[in-house]
Amino acid sequence: METGAVNAVRGMNDILPRDSAVWQRVEAELRRIFRAYSYREIRLPLLEKTELFARSIGEATDIVAKEMYTFDDRNGESLTLRPEATASCVRAGIEHGLFHNQCQRFWYMGPMFRHERPQRGRYRQFYQAGAEAFGWTGPDTDAELIAMSSRFWSGTKLQIPPRLEINSLGDSDTRAAYRRRLVEYLQGYERDLDPDSRNRIRTNPLRILDSKDPNTQRILQGAPTLFDGLDADSRAHFDGLCRYLDELGIRYTVNQRLVRGLDYYNRTVFEWVTDELGAQGAVCAGGRYDGLVQQLGGKRAVPAAGFALGMDRLVELASMNEAMRSPTRADVYIIMVGEGARSRGWSHAEKLRGRGFNVEMYCGEGGMKNQMKRADKSGALIGLLLGEDELESDSITLKMMQRRGEQVTVAAGDLVTKVQELIGEHRV
Ligand code: ATP
Ligand code: MG
Repeated sequence: METGAVNAVRGMNDILPRDSAVWQRVEAELRRIFRAYSYREIRLPLLEKTELFARSIGEATDIVAKEMYTFDDRNGESLTLRPEATASCVRAGIEHGLFHNQCQRFWYMGPMFRHERPQRGRYRQFYQAGAEAFGWTGPDTDAELIAMSSRFWSGTKLQIPPRLEINSLGDSDTRAAYRRRLVEYLQGYERDLDPDSRNRIRTNPLRILDSKDPNTQRILQGAPTLFDGLDADSRAHFDGLCRYLDELGIRYTVNQRLVRGLDYYNRTVFEWVTDELGAQGAVCAGGRYDGLVQQLGGKRAVPAAGFALGMDRLVELASMNEAMRSPTRADVYIIMVGEGARSRGWSHAEKLRGRGFNVEMYCGEGGMKNQMKRADKSGALIGLLLGEDELESDSITLKMMQRRGEQVTVAAGDLVTKVQELIGEHRV
């Protein structure tokens, strides 16, 4: 039998208690902001039929071609750990008839799985929060999604917020025509392209625009842009979006090379990027995907737009701020000396917990000095002392741990009021 310790799967991280405080703060802010825009939560399974992703994200994308965790179920059905959640939102919407004559605003949060090379900001289990709006065609919805995402940066107190890039991919005719022009142009340079891009000329030429290879980037400088050949409706849609963003005071740059790694996008695409995280600069990305509902079997076309936010990357940005990182501490730490005090202390603790206070209790046997040391270390605001004297007079001594240890003894019946008062004072 093997006896060594078993480690986690590569690229799948534990989030330890010392780090979970910042995760919780970020999650709470995201929830608050989703609610402020009237988006409602949808919870989706982690596993889906493989076909769902193949048919939505696209066979020739990095995700489907090489990043999915796919395996056969015990009955031989091919399943995949979700690499993203948009396809699942669409699947659930169709399956439950949520798109019949209704518009919908959804948000979700949770783990995604991609078999990539693990590095800073890129993991195999990572977390996304996302929003999807179904039923609206206009650029006001795209602007709403962007406005909502722009609030994440102030909500999580980022000192240097990411910057916004936008582009339009037009309609499918525009993209088909552009694909031909781009391929024609790139074929003249085929031998100078990096190997990945060379392969993509045949499989997914638009993705070449996204190549990080310096030589390929140089070649692309002279390439035609999709934006020049944009159809009139998409152009008007894009101009509409720009007007809304201007009106809202949201700054952006138009990046005509911005394409997304998933095939389902049309018209608006956008990305929030930062220079603060090294190579992995994309924090939040999304766009419009008007064709996806029908592509996944919806009875009629349902216009849609959405985004996904990389929570690991947002948490790393937020962690640069000390205040976001500080651990959550107990309000009250109970110190009890003697058998009788221990059971009385326990009932005080329960009363306070029932009123919403965070109470830590010394468990097991321990002398006064030892317990005091623990109370200090816990960072609690108030120490509750319960010894022989307190037991006899049914009172309790409160010690302000964070303020040179001022002490006051109150009747047991006044405990909750006194704790409320002291904590209130400390918070102002
Ligand atoms: P990238 O260009 O960084 O690979 P992507 O285009 O594959 O990103 P999307 O599928 O659009 O990313 O996902 C949206 C966001 O999710 C990204 O902007 C990023 O913040 C985050 N993300 C994507 N893949 C990972 C990963 N493997 N680890 C951590 N975060 C990720
Ligand atoms: Mg990727």
